[in-house]
Parts: sequence; structure tokens; C-alpha cells
Amino acid sequence: MVQTMANIRDAVDAVIAAVMAQKDYLTAVDAKTGDGDHGLNMARGFAAAEERLAELPPDAPLAEVLHHIGRAFIENVGGAAGPLYGIAFVRAGEAVSGKTRLDVASFEKLFTAGIDAIQRRGKAVRGDKTMLDTLIPIRDAFLPENAEGKSLRECIEDALEAGRTGAEYTKTIAARRGRAALIGARSIGIEDPGAMSSLIMFRALCGYLRG
Ligand code: ADP
Ligand code: MG
Ligand code: MG
Repeated sequence: MVQTMANIRDAVDAVIAAVMAQKDYLTAVDAKTGDGDHGLNMARGFAAAEERLAELPPDAPLAEVLHHIGRAFIENVGGAAGPLYGIAFVRAGEAVSGKTRLDVASFEKLFTAGIDAIQRRGKAVRGDKTMLDTLIPIRDAFLPENAEGKSLRECIEDALEAGRTGAEYTKTIAARRGRAALIGARSIGIEDPGAMSSLIMFRALCGYLRG
């Protein structure tokens, strides 16, 4: 289990590769309940992020890397998810500023900062069929009451399982935020694209951390 920041760029590359590989899937899911651009939006954001990251020194700290990913999304991606992920990455970066090792508490802080930013801007709550239905269960796995007595590795595996369950749950509910809310109950039966992109990113991070 890699806990240091030394390989942060490799971890980010793994996340980007996973999103790029699922671009068509994310776009197809979004076409069922929205406007069919979520994969394209994610790909555009990460392509812009890659350009910015290439300018950074190879040992740039996690906080700085997250900041640049966030700025890339804010400056290059329109619509709902782009600015929401953008501000979430920026705030997540701030939450781990100065950190050279990530422990359970840093994961909790990082995700809480991102979730808070998304909720302040987008006003969604858990159960509205959004990316938050994946991200909040992931974060909850790192809360002291759930993490007690567990290693970081165990918490990360629990978080992935919780994220999967959360993303799967979005199939069963009607959208109350974003474009999919326009079709309301007709979105039942289809997973939320943002919940899936959040799961894809975290799953790729876990895959990288497992080695
Ligand atoms: P757009 O809907 O503008 O085309 P995207 O397709 O890129 O943007 O992203 C759609 C995703 O954004 C949704 O699947 C949902 O997860 C997320 N989303 C939309 N509105 C909100 C919101 N208010 N809060 C949190 N997430 C949201
Ligand atoms: Mg869309
Ligand atoms: Mg759009």
C-alpha cells in the first residue's frame, strides 16, 4: 500500500486512464437521462489537467496537483459536473496542503472538503441521484466511527465497496438535481453519470494503491 506522495503522479495517471477508457460509457449513460456529454466533459477536463501537470516539477506535492486538476476543470469544462468537480479538487487540495503522507484522517478531510464544496455550489443532498451518492459513502468509510481499529488499506477497500453500493443505488431513484431532474421519475432504472465517474476515479485510485 503506497501511502507516500512519491508516486502521486502515477496515481493521477491511473485515474485519468480509467476515465478516458470509460469516456464513451459515461457519455452513453448521460445520453439516457441528460445531454450525452459527461464522458466528453470528463475527458476534456483531464486532458487540460494533463497539460498543466506536465508543467509542474515531478515531485510536486499532492495539494498542488489537485489544485491544478481543479483549475483545469473550472477553466475548460462547462455544464454541471465540470465546475463541481473543479471546485471539489481545488478544495480537496487545500485540505491536504502540507501533507506528505496520507492517513485515514487525511482521506476523510480530503473527501469532506470536496463534498462540502460540491454541496455549497450545487445544493444537492445524498439521494438526489448525483456524484454525491458515490462520494459521501466513500468519505463515510473514513469517519472515525467506521475506521476505528482498521488499517488504511481496509478503509480504502470498505470505501470502494460503499462507493459501488452508492453508485448502484442511483439506478433506483429519481433525479432531483441537474439535467436528469427534468425527466424526474423517468430516470429511475438508469445510473447517474456523475456517480459513475466518481466511482471510476476512486476505483482506479484503489487499483493503483493495491499495486
Ligand atoms: P451537464 O449535466 O451540464 O451536461 P455533465 O453531464 O458533465 O453536465 O454532468 C452531469 C452530472 O453532474 C450528473 O450526473 C450529476 O452527477 C452531476 N450533477 C448535476 N447537478 C448536480 C448538483 N447540483 N450537485 C451535484 N452533482 C450534480
Ligand atoms: Mg451532460
Ligand atoms: Mg452538458
